[in-house]
Amino acid sequence: MRKLCHCGQKMSLDFRVLIFGRVIEIDRVPIFECQLCSHYEVLPAVKSDLLALLDELKESNEQGLVLFNEVNELADVMFSISRTWNQMESTSTSFEVLFEQKCKERINLLLDVYGCAKEMNDRQWMDEISKRLLQISDFVNYSQFSGAN
Ligand SMILES: [Zn+2]
Repeated sequence: MRKLCHCGQKMSLDFRVLIFGRVIEIDRVPIFECQLCSHYEVLPAVKSDLLALLDELKESNEQGLVLFNEVNELADVMFSISRTWNQMESTSTSFEVLFEQKCKERINLLLDVYGCAKEMNDRQWMDEISKRLLQISDFVNYSQFSGAN
């Protein structure tokens, strides 16, 4: 889960709060950050979702803090790993392997929940789960993980 900065330094995954128009704050946004020049960029896999969320917030005139991991499954899986990752860095499991495993677990969980929603014929809930499934399955299907198994 690393990437090179334009200055040549390796960038590492982190989370930060982004502030838009001084009224909208979105916290726990996954970013790549350079340790050397402090350049950072939003993780490409969540960028379109972040922009969509921003549009929604602007339209609804909502103000205040939004936790991005609560509205984006990919960010949530990353966030949950990153909290324990520091203690695990010494183990042989790489972040990528762990991340892929956690993504698959989350997909299975969402599929179970979707089954419940379907049983209850709750259309709105089904749509909500579908949206969350897409956020994460798109990434797993088309990322560098494809072909890994
Ligand atoms: Zn840099």
